[in-house]
Amino acid sequence: MRIGILALQGAFAEHGAMLDRLQVPHFEIRQVNDFLQAPPDGLILPGGESTTMGKLLRELSLLEPIRQAILAGMPVFGTCAGLLLLAKKLENDDRRHLATMDLCAQRNAYGRQLGSYETEGAFADCGTVPMVFIRAPHIVGALSEEVETLAQVNGRIVAARQKNQLAVCFHPELTRDPSIHRYFLQMVQSR
Ligand code: GLN
Repeated sequence: MRIGILALQGAFAEHGAMLDRLQVPHFEIRQVNDFLQAPPDGLILPGGESTTMGKLLRELSLLEPIRQAILAGMPVFGTCAGLLLLAKKLENDDRRHLATMDLCAQRNAYGRQLGSYETEGAFADCGTVPMVFIRAPHIVGALSEEVETLAQVNGRIVAARQKNQLAVCFHPELTRDPSIHRYFLQMVQSR
């Protein structure tokens, strides 16, 4: 198994460090050839700034190959801005990026000051996990019945899955808890 990590901007190195701890081979995707030469078994889209990442994905001609691979079933894991890249609809932004996941999300959903905090919450069948939110989006709702809710905090959906796509509003790569990365690796393995 080899995991690709989109490394255009944002917290990509931290995902790499988590995969190192789990002893899972991974590589960084910076150019379209990094992706096309040896397509990964699973792809991580890190947190950062979704607008910048979306712009770079287009400029580097990475948007369409990644989009097609996701639609063909490649497992993908988007954290925070990564979730915004996946969402089909952004409530407070006209831009769309990969737009492969039946989610409506809201950017900077907690306001600028309240946007960063840490809590704990139940995630799928993984028990309680730490959740670090940084100018985080939240999931306003699912756009189809294929989307399952995996976690909620204060009545808001903060993690969801649609078949091969996993998206979380928080940053599991900034904690010591590997549960959510393990959950994603299971998705990759069982493909
Ligand atoms: N606020 C950022 C955006 O809109 C996401 C923040 C993050 O990834 N931590 O893209």
